[in-house]
Amino acid sequence: MNKRLLRSLLSLMVCMAMLLSLTPAALAESADAPSTEMAVGAVIHGFEVVENGEFALLNAKTTVLRHQKTGATVFFLINEDTNRAFDISFVTPLSDDKGIPHVFEHSTLDGSKKYPSASLFFNLIYQTYNTYMNAATYQVMTTYPVASLSEAQLLKYADFYLDSCFNPMIYEDESLFRSEAWRYSLESADSPLTISGTVYSEMQGAASLETSASYNAMKAAFPGSHMGYNQGGEPTEIPSMTWQEVKDYHTAYYHPSNSLTTVYGAIEDPAAFLALLDEAFSPYEAKAFDFSTPDYTPVTSPVEKVCQYPVYEGTETENAAVTYITFICENATEEEQNVLDLLTMLLSDSSSALVSNLVDVLPNADISVYLETDGPEPAVVFVATGMNEGDVQTLRECIYASVLEFAENGVSQDILDAIASSLTMETALMSEESDLGVNMAQNIAYCWATTGDVHAYEKSIANMDNFEKYQTEGKYAEVAKKYLTEDNQRVITVTTVPAPGQQEAIEADLAAKLAETKAAMSAEEIDQLVADTAALASGSMEDASELVAQLQAVTVDNLPEEIRTYDYTDVTDASGIRRIDVAADVDGIGQTYILLDAAAIPQEDIHWLNLYLNLIGSLGTTEHSSADVYALQSRYLYDGAVKLAVLNTDDAQGFRPYIRASWKATDADMAASYALLNELLFESEFTDTALIASNIALFRQTMKQSYEQEIYMTQLYRAVSQSDVGFNLYTYATGVDYYHFLSDAQALLESDPEAFAAKMKRIQALLHNGANAVIGFAGNAASIENNRAAADSFLASLPMAEVAPQTYDLPVPASAEGIVINSTVNFNLVYATFEQMGVEGGYSGAMDAMCSLVSDGLLYPLLRDQYGAYGVFHGADEDGMYIISYRDPNVAQTFTVYNYVPMLLQQLQMSLDQETLDGYILSSYSYYALSSGELTGALSVITDVVNGDDPFRRLQWMHELKQLKVEDIMAFAPMYQALLDNGCMSTAGSQSALNTMPAGTYENIIKP
Ligand SMILES: [Zn+2]
Repeated sequence: MNKRLLRSLLSLMVCMAMLLSLTPAALAESADAPSTEMAVGAVIHGFEVVENGEFALLNAKTTVLRHQKTGATVFFLINEDTNRAFDISFVTPLSDDKGIPHVFEHSTLDGSKKYPSASLFFNLIYQTYNTYMNAATYQVMTTYPVASLSEAQLLKYADFYLDSCFNPMIYEDESLFRSEAWRYSLESADSPLTISGTVYSEMQGAASLETSASYNAMKAAFPGSHMGYNQGGEPTEIPSMTWQEVKDYHTAYYHPSNSLTTVYGAIEDPAAFLALLDEAFSPYEAKAFDFSTPDYTPVTSPVEKVCQYPVYEGTETENAAVTYITFICENATEEEQNVLDLLTMLLSDSSSALVSNLVDVLPNADISVYLETDGPEPAVVFVATGMNEGDVQTLRECIYASVLEFAENGVSQDILDAIASSLTMETALMSEESDLGVNMAQNIAYCWATTGDVHAYEKSIANMDNFEKYQTEGKYAEVAKKYLTEDNQRVITVTTVPAPGQQEAIEADLAAKLAETKAAMSAEEIDQLVADTAALASGSMEDASELVAQLQAVTVDNLPEEIRTYDYTDVTDASGIRRIDVAADVDGIGQTYILLDAAAIPQEDIHWLNLYLNLIGSLGTTEHSSADVYALQSRYLYDGAVKLAVLNTDDAQGFRPYIRASWKATDADMAASYALLNELLFESEFTDTALIASNIALFRQTMKQSYEQEIYMTQLYRAVSQSDVGFNLYTYATGVDYYHFLSDAQALLESDPEAFAAKMKRIQALLHNGANAVIGFAGNAASIENNRAAADSFLASLPMAEVAPQTYDLPVPASAEGIVINSTVNFNLVYATFEQMGVEGGYSGAMDAMCSLVSDGLLYPLLRDQYGAYGVFHGADEDGMYIISYRDPNVAQTFTVYNYVPMLLQQLQMSLDQETLDGYILSSYSYYALSSGELTGALSVITDVVNGDDPFRRLQWMHELKQLKVEDIMAFAPMYQALLDNGCMSTAGSQSALNTMPAGTYENIIKP
């Protein structure tokens, strides 16, 4: 389910989060020799080859070319990855909070001279052979990445992206600006005036105290510079943006001389890309860009500030503040910045003195540290969450003392070893990463945007080799003493605190302003606005099918029906131990997957069980301190997780709980990794009350944030739980009920720590049993043998006692549910199982194309383009089918749209031809065809076998998908009708949003 949901997520324009995965990398295969045409000095389609090199970790041959006319840079990274990527990025500085670059990013993909269609971008996502298509706005740049398994298709996307960037329709068409940024809406002459717009909705959903705290901190640290502005746009500022500003911004920054183009993967014809780029760049003359910040006024003495963040009355405020302490590192050299970069990683590590000292003085706080290099001067930034206004002095003293402690003692050899081992594992497992080309292109572009150097990202990775060297040379102590002590006067402390009731005040203020605006309108203006609003709501769907056909490079007929299959064995021995071994083509490394029976845990202890699993690994054991435990985990349990798992069974109860442990390790480390798992599971100590309290506070904080940002996941889990008893146990154990339980657990810990410890020890004793264990492993034959020995000795250390399964009678979420969250936008879900929808045989591959067709043909045009929702997720998996609106200003309106889907689908079918349907098939197919990495694929074989599924059923789905014909579509209309009639629904939003629905709409309203 998550995979499908995530895929829909990817098709939205992601913004905000800068996910720089600074990961060293190596692909298994070796790249071809560089093409002789790309020799240094050669000129190809107006581009001169400047240098050839290697990016060893990507196993790529690299070529840098410069456009002779404009100076534009193109960076090729050629290796054997068939998930090829193209990206063009521009440096886009900020000077206010209106979100201009973000609105431009959306508008860019709203049609261009060659491809004049506002709907084409989403049509291409859903109807062509891509694995990734998106755009994103960051603090310093705007980036346009796209990926495909077909080089010919990638070339067509490159043409579409280039024309979109350089010749966008927004110059002529103001309605695009109104639709993306903001506009007034008026349903009738008597209704209140409102503001809508895609970016306006998106940014309301993106707003959080945490992001606001970061902007507040950067504004205070670098006053007058471009730092600290919200690149996405503050919802209160977006309506002050004008069409002209957006056009001027494009003219200023969307220029070849200010661009970096990256082409990645198994590219056979680089010259074809260069020809396209030359055509796009040649109309321009070379231009110099200056991104210095003349208005920057450096801070010279300590600054301390408190900022307020508006929330609704009644929002919890205790431990909800965020403090940023920024140390400006004046004149830090490049080498010092390299040292600071690694130093901040060490200070952030869970094993560091800073982290453990903070637990003692501020148990509810959590800290991270990073080097900020986007601003006019480098700075080290400490970020503490779970704070209160009165905690700031304590935090600062703790930072000073801990940095000093670090400067004196350095970092232990154990931690250096752990880091080295993690880096080795990351390198070995690089090819397991999904969307590698897209991620690398964005990382390269981001580092280029801040430095002007296309190799800056490679250099930052190379710096990872210096962890030990800097310690030996005393560099950490040197920079810590130079920049991070009380001698540095250039320290800026900014705390952002929640201000309950302010959100209501802002909304009342906006309503008053809008009422004033409306009062000032003439009767004609009001009639016109009502007419415009209605016209938009009933607006005809744009037909871009000819343009889609023009950009189509792949046909359904020649799609190969093949996937990576694995040989595996599945044997249960006389004692009831089940072993599943999957043969994977890797060397000296393996993936484990272990299940231990947890059916003996009674219902009243299910939340305690989950808390137990969440806590182990953060606490000390009978043999090691908590800091040692952290280091040992990075060393031996790479990518490790110990979680609750629920398997469906054939007995009366229908399910059985297990503990699932999984991790990756080298053959040499395998025995030690099992020993460590054993120690964590069965020898953890529950006596360090402060550390436990700090962890529980962090769990609550993390869950609360996810309720504000990702409530749709909770909605989906609760929906599936209604029909799936096993899933309901999982949702009950880990979801909203668990969140409320954590407060009780915290109270018991405070009032009676011994009773708390006794609870944990009871869980530990109930779990201490090897009976019915499942040992799964993926690796080569030698690794399988090696794992067998390690697993056997792990099992031999456990008692084998018969398990008495408990029975569970759990509450089930209501089938019409309201969820109150602190958000100004809403999330509306409908969900049904295939049984409820009357679909015999359940899921089929054809459903994928259906969901794409309905999303692209109906849901996006209606919910996003006409009603201002930021997006919608629609998908199906083997459990059922869902539609969820995302960051949606409406509630009732959206359910009305859902109710029209069956009828609209019938209409849509009349005009649908096979060629268009084939497009939807292609886009869905590329998701199935994308390989997942050798070990990741092998792990999914283990989980499928454990769940009783055919691990290679994807092949069947691919076949079904290819067979889908236009005449089959009509059969799906009754399915959608049944989804609405027989399924469940929920809304997440503010209490006032839920109140807009008729009384009795929601059987139950919960508040996480
Ligand atoms: Zn956006």
